[in-house]
Amino acid sequence: MTPTTATAPEVAPFRFFEMTVLRTRRLGPSILRITLGGPGAEGFSGGGRDQSLSVLLPRPGQSEAVVPAGGIGARRERGRALPEDERAVTRSYAVRAQRLRADGSTEVDVDVVLHAVGGPGCRWALTASPGDRLTVLGPAAADNAAVRFRPPADTDWVLIRADETALPAAAAALAWLPAGLPARVWLEVPCTEDRQALNTAAKARISWLVRNEGAACGVETVRAAALPGGTPYAWIAGEASGVRALRHHLVHERGFDRARVTSSAYWRRGLPEEQLRRAEAEAAAGAGSGGPEEPTGKKS
Ligand SMILES: Cc1cc2nc3c(=O)[nH]c(=O)nc-3n(C[C@H](O)[C@H](O)[C@H](O)COP(=O)(O)OP(=O)(O)OC[C@H]3O[C@@H](n4cnc5c(N)ncnc54)[C@H](O)[C@@H]3O)c2cc1C
Repeated sequence: MTPTTATAPEVAPFRFFEMTVLRTRRLGPSILRITLGGPGAEGFSGGGRDQSLSVLLPRPGQSEAVVPAGGIGARRERGRALPEDERAVTRSYAVRAQRLRADGSTEVDVDVVLHAVGGPGCRWALTASPGDRLTVLGPAAADNAAVRFRPPADTDWVLIRADETALPAAAAALAWLPAGLPARVWLEVPCTEDRQALNTAAKARISWLVRNEGAACGVETVRAAALPGGTPYAWIAGEASGVRALRHHLVHERGFDRARVTSSAYWRRGLPEEQLRRAEAEAAAGAGSGGPEEPTGKKS
């Protein structure tokens, strides 16, 4: 196993980027790829794995997102001082890929789920067109607190479980894994055509759980599986209740070391993202813990 940084650096090196939508492409019925770039993308540093960014979106009636001038510190301090109904809406997406082009410019792909309930993120994606300007809070250094996929150096095999919102992060993590490392992977998508060809050098056994084919998507699928021997590392992300149930299964029924299970609630049924983050912050404050603030991707 290639040695990796066991813990995130203390300071999360994020900043605002004024990016441009270069193009969009439908990957399947439920997923739209939006490629961002332009001169404002210079210095963006994705670095792979489950790196994420936040898009900052205008509220209804605003022509552009209201963002405090200055860096991330300014956003934390003055962003909260802005009235909530003026402050930009933020939505989290994984950095699916970053490419450096021959002319030195950078392109960044985000894959957005077009879910039926809808929300500002979903609406932005549906109307995004080439030339649109977009403010992004993103990584200015590749290794930072938003990267949570961190298999320890003594990992013998990796378990990955992701729904469609976490498929981009899972795909980037698979692309990053070292050659030959065994990986047992379950990827859940709404429709057959949402499945994707994935690039990995790992010895990955990938099972697609397709909901419109009637796949069982609860914890029972992993519970029924024979898992490899040796020391595991697990990464689970997606809808909050499923993430919590699987984490519980791995730690309490399978005996995984809880420190070797990374779990992230990417969304929660019935809650828009800001309410999910508020609920998480309140839970963390209640438990007396702190943690990185931006972008999101908190432990479930
Ligand atoms: C670190 C991180 C990385 C993420 N990466 C991605 C990514 O790469 N691609 C991606 O598409 N999403 C990703 N997500 C999840 C995404 O941020 C949420 O799904 C977000 O709620 C979508 O915003 P919205 O404005 O569309 O809906 P919101 O306004 O947040 O929510 C409106 C309603 O829609 C529901 N809802 C939200 N998402 C879904 C869904 N997928 N299916 C069904 N109902 C839903 C909510 O429960 C709520 O009831 C990520 C989240 C995190 C924290």
